[in-house]
This record gives sequence, C-alpha cells and structure tokens, in this order.
Amino acid sequence: MTRVTVYTLAIALTLAGSANRNSVFRIATLQAEEANYLVGCGSADITGPAAGFPMEGFVRKDRLTKGIHLRQRARAFIIAERDDTPSAGKRVVFVCAELSMIHSDVYREAMARLKQRFDGLYSEENVIISATHTHSGTGGYHRYGADGPLGAGFFFEQLDGIVTGIESAVVEAHNQLRPGRILIAQGDVADAGANRSAVAYRNNPKEERSLYPHDTDTEMTLLKFVGGDSAEQALGTVNWFAVHPTSMTYNNFLISGDSKGYASIKFERLMGVTHRKPNEFVAAFAQSNCGDVTGNLNLNNTGPGKDDFESTGIIGQRQLDVALQLYEDASEELSGPIDVRHTNVDFSELAVANEFTGSGPQLTAAACYGYSFAAGSTEDGGGHPLFHEGMKNRNAAIDLLSYQMFPDSQPDKHIRQLQFPKAILFAPGAAKSASGLAQVMPLSICRIGQLILVVGPAEYTTMSGRRIRRSVQEAFGDAAKYVVIAGYSNGYGGYVSTREEYEMQQYEGGHTLFGPWTLAGYQQEFVRLAHAMVEGAPVDPGPALDGGPIPVKRRTIGFGTDQAPEDAKFGDLFVAPKSKYTRGQRVEVAFWTGHPRNSFHTGGNYLSVERRLADNWETAYTDADWETRCQWQPSLNSDQPCQINIIWDIPADEEPGEYRIVHHGSYRLEAEAESQSFDKATASFRVE
Ligand SMILES: [Zn+2]
Repeated sequence: MTRVTVYTLAIALTLAGSANRNSVFRIATLQAEEANYLVGCGSADITGPAAGFPMEGFVRKDRLTKGIHLRQRARAFIIAERDDTPSAGKRVVFVCAELSMIHSDVYREAMARLKQRFDGLYSEENVIISATHTHSGTGGYHRYGADGPLGAGFFFEQLDGIVTGIESAVVEAHNQLRPGRILIAQGDVADAGANRSAVAYRNNPKEERSLYPHDTDTEMTLLKFVGGDSAEQALGTVNWFAVHPTSMTYNNFLISGDSKGYASIKFERLMGVTHRKPNEFVAAFAQSNCGDVTGNLNLNNTGPGKDDFESTGIIGQRQLDVALQLYEDASEELSGPIDVRHTNVDFSELAVANEFTGSGPQLTAAACYGYSFAAGSTEDGGGHPLFHEGMKNRNAAIDLLSYQMFPDSQPDKHIRQLQFPKAILFAPGAAKSASGLAQVMPLSICRIGQLILVVGPAEYTTMSGRRIRRSVQEAFGDAAKYVVIAGYSNGYGGYVSTREEYEMQQYEGGHTLFGPWTLAGYQQEFVRLAHAMVEGAPVDPGPALDGGPIPVKRRTIGFGTDQAPEDAKFGDLFVAPKSKYTRGQRVEVAFWTGHPRNSFHTGGNYLSVERRLADNWETAYTDADWETRCQWQPSLNSDQPCQINIIWDIPADEEPGEYRIVHHGSYRLEAEAESQSFDKATASFRVE
C-alpha cells in the first residue's frame, strides 16, 4: 500500500469511527502460535497551567503561557514476559512524556509512587520515563535552579499533576496487560531535521563521518503493539526519531508538544482515539539522539514553513507519514527475553579507561556550564547577546559577573584543567551547598528480544549516539539486531558531544557538563551494563541519586480569586460566531471566564467543537487538537475580568453540517471556596 493510500484510508477510518480499524490497518500475517509477550498501553493528560505560567525549554524567564494549542500527555507501554511472575527484570515500562525533560524530582516522585502502588513490581530496575523534549510545555515542576536567576519557581501542584498523569498512564497500561505481540520496523524520515552545529560535527574524524550518508540520523525505529493470541487488537505504537522539538520557537506562548505532539495526536485521531474513554489506542513519538538536530531547516530559527505553526505541522507530518507507513508494513516480530540492567553513575570525576578514550586513562569533571551555553544554539534562536558559540577564551568581565551571580558555583584550577578547552561560565558541580544539579546519572540497558534500548538522561548529539550504539552493538554481537538510543530519560544531565565536537565549544559542547570525556564515560558504562546482561550477571546499583530535593520556596499556582465581568456572567459570549462558514475558514469566538491558574487541574478540556447528529451533539475536536487554539486575555493575572478566545480552523475536508463551540470553564470568587465549573455553548452555525 502506498503512503498516500494509507493516509487517505486512515482519514476515511476517522470519519467512519474506530470500530473497523483493523480492516484498514492490516495486522501483519502472524504465525498461529502463542503471542510472545504480555503487552499493555495507556495514556493520561499532563498539561500544565494554560495561562500566565512559566514555560520550559529556552531558559527565558519572560516566557509565560497564554493558552493551549496541543495538550501535553504521558503515554505508557508495558511489555512483560508471557510466563511472567511478579518479579522485577522480567517486564519493562516505557513512558513517553511530553515534557522538556525528566528532572530528578519527576523521576524520584514517579518511582516512589509506582513502587508503592505496585508493591515493588515497577521500580528503577524496569521503568523508563522519557521526555519528548518539547520546548513549549510548562515548567515549574522541579526544584533545580527554581529560585535562581534563571529559574521558574517550584510549584508542587504542577509536579503532582505530571507525576499523577505518568502514574495513571502506567496503571492503565498495567490493567490492560494481555497476551500480545510487538512488531518492529525501521525507515528513514527525509527532511525532518538538520544538523545545527555542522562546524562541530565536521571536527569528527573524516573516516568516521564517511561511514554515514548524513550529518543527522534519519532513521525511525517503530514498535507496533497488537493484542490477543490471534493479534486482532491494535493497541498502540511507539517510535524513536531524533529531532529537536523547537519548531515552535520561543516566540510561541501556547502549550504545545511541537512536531512530535502533532504526530502523536494526529496518529491517535486517525485511530479513532477520543482521550475520554479507557483503553484507547496510544501513539507515542519518542526522542532519540537529537542533541545537534533542529527541525528549523533554514538554520536561523525558521523553516521549513512560513511560521512556527506551519513548520511544526510540516516536521510533524514528515514523522507521521513514515510512522504510518512503518506501522502498516511492520511484520518482524520481537521475540526473546526481556531484560534490564540499571545503574547510577557519578560523572563528577569518573575514571574512563583507554579503551574508550583512545588517549590513556582520563577523568570526567564536576559539572560546569561553558560560556557558549549562554549563547544558546544560534540556529534555534540563540541566547544572551553577550555570548556566542565557539567561545573558548576567558573574559574577566564575564567571570566577575558570574562570580556575583553564582558565588557558590565557581570552578577551581583542577576543574578548569579537566574541562579544558571550555571557558567556564559557572560550575554547579563544584558548589559547596546543595545546588540541585544531579551529577549521579541513572543509566539502563533494556532488551526486548532483538531490540536493545540504550537509556540515558542526556541530549546526545548525532555522532555521540552513533558511538554509543556501536559500542553497545559490539558488546551484544548478533543478539542485538536493533540498537536505539532513548535519550532524555530518567533524569537530565545536559548535552553529550563527542570529544572532537567538544573542542569546538558550540552550544552543545558548552552544555556538555562533565567535560571532554563525558561521551567516553557513557560508552564505558553502557558497555559495562551490556556485558553484564550478556553474561547474565547483576550490576552494582551505584551511588544514590543526588541533586535534590533541595530547599526552595514552594509556590501556589492559584492567584486567588477571579473578577466577575461587568454586566455579564461567567460563560457569557463576548464574541459570537457567524451564522455560516465555508470549509477552510477560521471560526473565532470568546467567552467570559475564570483564569486557569485559579482552578488548575490536569485532564478535561477547555473547549469542544461539536457537530450536530440527528438529535444530539458529538465532539469533533477539543483543545488537544491541532485544528483548535485557545488563549486567555489577560493571561498574566486575574485582577481583571478574563476572556478565553477560541479558534477553530475548519479543515478543508471537514464534513459539512451544523456545529457549535462549547467552553468548559471555571472560576473562583472566594479564595477558600471551591471553584465553580460551567459548560456554555455558542449558538450553532453552518459549515458548508
Ligand atoms: Zn535540547
């Protein structure tokens, strides 16, 4: 089947409902014997406060949410051996969360709750929580740097909302566990990423570069989950592909999962998913080694579309097209043992052997940010104007400023030597008081039959990922047919560039926290885990995680109370729809409402676009969809009466008919009182 046919059929499927989805997405011909594994999928909302709340990804304190374009979700997959007994190591959980990163606060809190709920069945030993690295999600959910000059503040309710969503997704996947099969397929995604640090990449040895056709990894690896011994149920899919979700740039103030969020919601809607029923299909677009890969193909914070929205749609669609094709084509079944080796590694001064450095025994170094960290990635919009990529020489004025801002985080001579040639901006790894920055990193190798997931907490560049994959592949030999980097997982330890890239001190080198031998250290430790797995040997769990929780100010999300509108009620229309639209047009309406920070909750929706059926209304779109946007006005506070502006871009192929827009709002008139919820609809209008 061609890609276009699959896509057209999939659209037809959406319109026809989900009942016959398997007649469209043909289940690959499978042998009649028993399914290999128990499989389960689940998902839950983790969207942060929709207005006036810090966003995370670009380290800009002035970036506060104004509304929602795409909701943030956590998607979970559990794979267990068929003859599983409740012992860790025989099953694995992969959670793909639409977050900027998995800070140790999220990881610790999620592990504590999962361990308690499942009596130890799920723990650090078999759970992977991975971030898509969207740069348009909300922040404020971790303590690291929260009260510092670059921090967003710490809001426990926001951390709680995220961890509750992750836990709910795992619970749903666990409750759904059933005999099933996993099919795997790989394919190339063309023109969905460009290397944003070509000058660093080109400093890698020529012979090594000549092994690869591109300066980014174009490969997508996809798993397809089907349930039942006869594999009749389409349960879910997850894929790994490396591209920075920065298509929505720092000029965007709407919550968004970026290109990966686009692809996930579109895939799920094609499968008839509503997010309002249990056990629906789950489609996750997970992150890999995208450290130096941008979706801004013009390499100047723009492209390939005319604006952020169009660029996100294009980069998302390119991933979606390949995922749909791989999902359709996948026919190779994963089979064989499930196994995990997990350890914590202290990178603050790790001894790395000659086998991995090629330059004799070396040491990693206490975590330091370089000047070029502050420069940001020029191709993704840049950072502070005082800085530029490639800075290697110290500057007395900058060092003085750094000393004033970070008096406790200054490197000594030893650290400077180990970090050479990085010009050090500040050194949280050298702080005498707890900085909240983790230097002990959780690492795992996870095997599901012929697939090996290399699970690390960092932003690996293209070539770093390749070196790690090569090292791990060698350790496994033929046992590993597929080796995939699952970056941004279980913690956050900055970037990992190769030693040669590090020398150039581009943004990624300046953000490679543990010095020039960081990558070699990761290779060494992943190979140690791989060898242990091959030999069936246990591994030392390593030191306890560090980095938190540290004392910070606890902030509350709510501002207090909402202001009632004058001469109107909450839920009244401020801007009404027209009576008639043609397909392809934009519908814009506005309601009086409360501020979302005053009644914060995850889940639910602020808006629905409803289509009239014979004598009732059916939800066609919500605020989770690409076709809608909602925005609060004013967004920053609730001192004045507040409106929600709702946009629905009517697709060119929308079904003609009668529609209306519903706002699901809430408000709070007294600080201590329960918030009041309401659902108010516009008059209906025709779409022709
Ligand atoms: Zn990044």
